[in-house]
Amino acid sequence: MSQKDFWISVLKRLKPTIKKANFITWFQNTTALSVENGVLVVGVPTAFAKTWLLDKFSLKILQAAKEIDPSIESVEYEVKGKLSEKGNALAVNINSFFVDDGVKSVRKVKNLNEVKVGKGAGDKKIVSQMINRRYSLSNFVVGSDNRLPHAACQAVAGMPGGIYNPLYIYGTVGLGKTHLLQAVGNEILKNFPDLVVKYITAERFVTEVVDAIGKRHMSQFKDRYRNVDCFLVDDVQFFARKNSSQQEFFHTFNELYDGNKQIVLTSDRAPSELDDLDERLKSRFSMGMVTELVLPDFETRLAILHQKCGEYGIIIDPEVLCFVATNVQTSVRELEGVLKQIVADMQLFDRVATMRSVADIIKRMNKAQKIIGYDIEGRNGKIVVRSAAEIMDVVAEYYGVTVDQIVGKDRHRSVMLPRQVSMYLIKNELGDSYEKIGMGFGGRNHTTVLHACNKTVDMLKTDLRLVRDLNAIKREMGL
Ligand code: ADP
Ligand code: MG
Repeated sequence: MSQKDFWISVLKRLKPTIKKANFITWFQNTTALSVENGVLVVGVPTAFAKTWLLDKFSLKILQAAKEIDPSIESVEYEVKGKLSEKGNALAVNINSFFVDDGVKSVRKVKNLNEVKVGKGAGDKKIVSQMINRRYSLSNFVVGSDNRLPHAACQAVAGMPGGIYNPLYIYGTVGLGKTHLLQAVGNEILKNFPDLVVKYITAERFVTEVVDAIGKRHMSQFKDRYRNVDCFLVDDVQFFARKNSSQQEFFHTFNELYDGNKQIVLTSDRAPSELDDLDERLKSRFSMGMVTELVLPDFETRLAILHQKCGEYGIIIDPEVLCFVATNVQTSVRELEGVLKQIVADMQLFDRVATMRSVADIIKRMNKAQKIIGYDIEGRNGKIVVRSAAEIMDVVAEYYGVTVDQIVGKDRHRSVMLPRQVSMYLIKNELGDSYEKIGMGFGGRNHTTVLHACNKTVDMLKTDLRLVRDLNAIKREMGL
């Protein structure tokens, strides 16, 4: 068996035991690099994927590998960078694991609904132009609380016009309704490229109706929706008190529904709570499946943060992410907003995110009433370090070396790293010039210091160990 076939067999065993979203996220671009002396070496694209596989899936991977080759005793991970699918003979395309699922449901639908084929690609482009490709069902993190809405969307995407029609998803702002709605659209277009998918916000629909009435273009307006196969309407609470729009929507809804077309709706409240909405519409909304999105629990919030870091390609100390997930409890959008601010700060100042810096951001953005787990004013009892000598002291103590060694000429790794970290911290926290820092390190050239700082910044992008070191050191320094 080739290495690639071996890894495919392992993945096939793992697939049923791991949630699809996780499976795709963490096993994309992985490969088996070698099996020698009972050690399986798995190639992974990023240091982040490595940590995650180590933490969460190591045992499962070992068990699956053992079933195929009982001589395997342990698993190790090696960061290989992105494995291009075409260029690398070892790379496995994880999406191919889900092709079968898709094909099965395509056939089912064809039998049921007689999907029309060969619609002009041109108008398809027009009707789906507002869907954001970024939203997919696989990058929606599924926790115990939002399993149902996600599963319903999956069912709809696999079989549009099936039993979940209409699908009605509701929940307060920023919990992922638009994400799921557009993901359904993307997924349907992927599974059934011939279907016409239309996404529209209720607000836009109202504008179109008003516009059509004003220009006496009502029949053109109706035509626009006639050949839609999947109708996605966002924020239907907006129809409240808009009577003529409600009527028009009612007709469109009925026509599509009677034609077995899929309808998915989102709203900020349950159908029964939609005041100022026609009773007939309310009852239509509740005819299929009604499901609520709620604020994800702590674990899911944490998983969302990990996933977004993966998408942004950055590393943040897991402890700091826990701190964010604990403190930002309003919505996923706010969680994402805080993370984006953290990333912006990191990139702007070439700094690692620490509990303190993140606590500052949360406070500045006013995203938590009271910050749990960090005392900003008291800096958790630490005095802020203010001089180069103090920084060297803390770094030396952390790495178990002496300040003399840090300043000295020894090029052994055990002192090179603390030296490099000290230079980086002095530059970053005190803003000293490279020349001045060089003087403090036994008269070293400023280019040496510059190089050490740049190298640290680079390493912080991929080296979780160093990220954790710097967090611990900065915490000691009250930063
Ligand atoms: P809503 O429409 O409910 O107000 P959105 O769909 O706009 O909320 O979601 C806000 C942001 O949060 C989006 O960027 C979305 O991708 C993200 N988001 C929400 N829930 C999740 C989740 N479970 N997994 C990943 N991202 C999520
Ligand atoms: Mg929305």
